[in-house]
Amino acid sequence: MALIVQKYGGTSVGSVERIEAVADRVVRFRDEGHDVVVVVSAMSGETNRLIGLAKSIVDQPDPRELDALVATGEQVSMALLCMALHKRGHKARSYNGSQVRILTDDSHTKARIREIDDSRIRADLAQGSVVVVAGFQGVDENGNTTTLGRGGSDTTGVALAAALKAEECQIYTDVDGVYTTDPRVVERAKRLDRITFEEMLEMASQGSKVLQIRSVEFAGKYNVPLRVLSSFQEGPGTLISYEEDNQMEAPLISGIAFNRDEAKLTVRGVPDTPGVAYRILGPVSDANIEVDVIVQNVSADGTTDITFTVHRNDRKKAEAILQDVAKGMGAREVIGDDRIAKVSIVGVGMRSHAGIASTMFKALSEVNINIQMITTSEIKISVIIDEKFLELAVRTLHTAFGLDKTDDNA
Ligand code: ADP
Ligand code: ASP
Ligand code: MG
Repeated sequence: MALIVQKYGGTSVGSVERIEAVADRVVRFRDEGHDVVVVVSAMSGETNRLIGLAKSIVDQPDPRELDALVATGEQVSMALLCMALHKRGHKARSYNGSQVRILTDDSHTKARIREIDDSRIRADLAQGSVVVVAGFQGVDENGNTTTLGRGGSDTTGVALAAALKAEECQIYTDVDGVYTTDPRVVERAKRLDRITFEEMLEMASQGSKVLQIRSVEFAGKYNVPLRVLSSFQEGPGTLISYEEDNQMEAPLISGIAFNRDEAKLTVRGVPDTPGVAYRILGPVSDANIEVDVIVQNVSADGTTDITFTVHRNDRKKAEAILQDVAKGMGAREVIGDDRIAKVSIVGVGMRSHAGIASTMFKALSEVNINIQMITTSEIKISVIIDEKFLELAVRTLHTAFGLDKTDDNA
């Protein structure tokens, strides 16, 4: 008998029928003698619908009120799931974030969990109840409802599993595990039996939204065994765990991540003197805008161009800051470009193998894709390319690194 935390995403609770199917699965685990804590997302599309309602009134809704609004989605799911469990003769009680007391900081729409009070959950489990918790939400010190950022129910699941020292945190979604790349984009993507926390963190950070980044950070930090599974079919899913000692069989590249969320900004013709990078990037970071890839080129006339990427939502704000800075420095111009995409190859095997970058660049050059920027870490290489070549790039790299599904492993 173990304690298991199961998180069900939006599609998995997307209709009353799906919620009944979740109840059946929970009952199966109860019948096997396990204690089950369930974390639910809002029904699919609901969070977007609520944000749409807010934006139909005001372009930039007040963050506190936005959190109060979007947190309702998860509460619908939690109560419906409990009703479905009652119908099956099982005890079940639902709690929202503030009722559990998932204490967070006060950064509305992107709050971080500080502490979880597990006393109510433990008491209910001891009474033989299933406990159903609304994902994505918490409460700050002053009793305000907060939310954990899009996809945040994953983090609720992992944080509860850590607090309760659960045997496993199971993330049920609409794919049957973590794949070598998004299976909706590359048909030949393969399911991975396992992936390390470190690789999963890079995959998530570089755009694979199958798990929220913070949930992977949390799972790694507290060593929570994490498994991604389908709520639509049976199967082993993908286990996310620490690196094994025996890396002999580790694949060179575990996966390919991509995103279209960034925009590129270039300041042209900056006098090439010490401190220019700071004078340009300092005000951008002071405005709380995160900078990702940075490239600086010196040209023959002694000036320099600085190019960097930011989240697309921050492009306008960053461009306005740069216009001011550029004027002050006598730079030639500021150019913004949204039509870029970032493709990243990820794998712990990179540590012990040379030549991976050249394989990547060669494969892209063979299909005539121009690389605009490059950035690397110990287990990742990312390139910025024209957005219109994104799918071609991902498919090409998937084949080049031998990740395609074959009949043997189909
Ligand atoms: P949920 O609503 O259950 O939280 P999400 O939509 O957040 O589900 O995450 C599941 C989706 O993640 C899949 O439908 C898939 O398209 C996408 N995805 C992106 N990259 C990957 C990957 N490498 N492996 C599996 N799924 C991925
Ligand atoms: N419902 C929230 C969202 O759509 C949280 C989640 O599903 O994880 O982002
Ligand atoms: Mg999700």
